[in-house]
Amino acid sequence: MSESWSFGRQRGAVGEKGQMAARSRVPLALLLKRELSSERREEKPDILHGQASQRKKGEDFTLSMTECRRVPGDDVATFSVFALFDGHNGTAAAIYTKDNLLENVLSAIPSILSRDEWIAALPRALVAGFVKTDKEFQDKAHTSGTTVTFVIIDGWVVTVASVGDSLCLFESAEGSSYFLSADHRLEANEEEVKRIRASGGEVGRINTGGVTELGPLRCWPGGLCLSRSIGDMDVGEFIVPIPHVKQVKLPKAGGRLIISSDGVWDALTSEKALSCSRGLSAEAAAARIVKEAVQIKGLRDDTTCIVVDILPPEKLAPPVPPPKKSGKGMFKFMFCKQSCESSSHSGTGHFEPDVLEEMFEDGSAVLAQRLNMEYPICNMFKLFMCAVCQLEMKPGEGISLHAGSSQTGRVHPWHGPFLCRTCQAKREAMEGKRPSRDSAC
Ligand SMILES: [Zn+2]
Repeated sequence: MSESWSFGRQRGAVGEKGQMAARSRVPLALLLKRELSSERREEKPDILHGQASQRKKGEDFTLSMTECRRVPGDDVATFSVFALFDGHNGTAAAIYTKDNLLENVLSAIPSILSRDEWIAALPRALVAGFVKTDKEFQDKAHTSGTTVTFVIIDGWVVTVASVGDSLCLFESAEGSSYFLSADHRLEANEEEVKRIRASGGEVGRINTGGVTELGPLRCWPGGLCLSRSIGDMDVGEFIVPIPHVKQVKLPKAGGRLIISSDGVWDALTSEKALSCSRGLSAEAAAARIVKEAVQIKGLRDDTTCIVVDILPPEKLAPPVPPPKKSGKGMFKFMFCKQSCESSSHSGTGHFEPDVLEEMFEDGSAVLAQRLNMEYPICNMFKLFMCAVCQLEMKPGEGISLHAGSSQTGRVHPWHGPFLCRTCQAKREAMEGKRPSRDSAC
């Protein structure tokens, strides 16, 4: 990662002249992004959505909201939210998250931002909102947990924040497909296994007493197969709610989002989910995907699918990509370097019409990294407010995110962002720096 800095930090360190110098050192990527967003003021896409679900345990919940207002009273500044919550060990975490997460995310975005600033502030606000929701839910001492796949669509910009193993897939009108979410199953994510072990958790399969080991990789205590979720206070606190966040700008011709719980992905490959539903309306596509999945695997789990078509205005037929050339892997995976490098910030100013423009991606579980934005936008966040729960604090009361970090040589500990005392305790628990609440009490 490039060296991160914040305008607030520079302001503390330098005088008036230094501020000017600091301003002129805006990262090139940001300048390009600003220029592009102001140049390409485009009409808003039409959004058509549908969903389908087959219940086994009744622990899948969804949220579909269009026309959410970014600015109260402004009917033009609107965005849409589509989300899927796949609960486990009960429904309380999924329901609580469905009811509170959006509000917690929005309250972490400073008021009076321009649209571009609002979009740039979203990744940090999503991290704060997820952690706050998890902390509040755990205070209620329920033991259930939930995955979250949370999709915000503002114009042609799609921001996806995810914990767990419900996945979000995008297929462009021309037929290129991309995962926009992370897969936090321990079985599929070696990096997360390493993180949990380093924080003091154990990762392994169920041992039947002999040499045989059963089932997927699980984290102990608790036996959860996921490395990230909201809730789950009976497992180690290194099962964190810090979401993977990916923000992209869609190609002009639009495309289709498919958000599904693991009930779908355990039965269907992404190619199959896309191909079985092509040409159908969003509603019919969601129903077909669920039906296909249940036909293949039987109804072994809640199986839920949300389909969202994002289309150029007035083009109300679902996108049908041209037939694919055989033998050519069109699938672009999330961590694929190539797709990142071929996207936005190459500096050439040239855009292929079908290329998904990557604006932001970060999946780190380190809170300090996620709340410490590189953008000058961090200057918009109030300094004396907890970066997670938005509690107002007196100067000197908050704990700097840089306190105790290995970077303290370079970063002054009195620089923000700051956390309140209880959010700092939460952070330390997530990083394995103090015993989890069970053994502590
Ligand atoms: Zn706080």
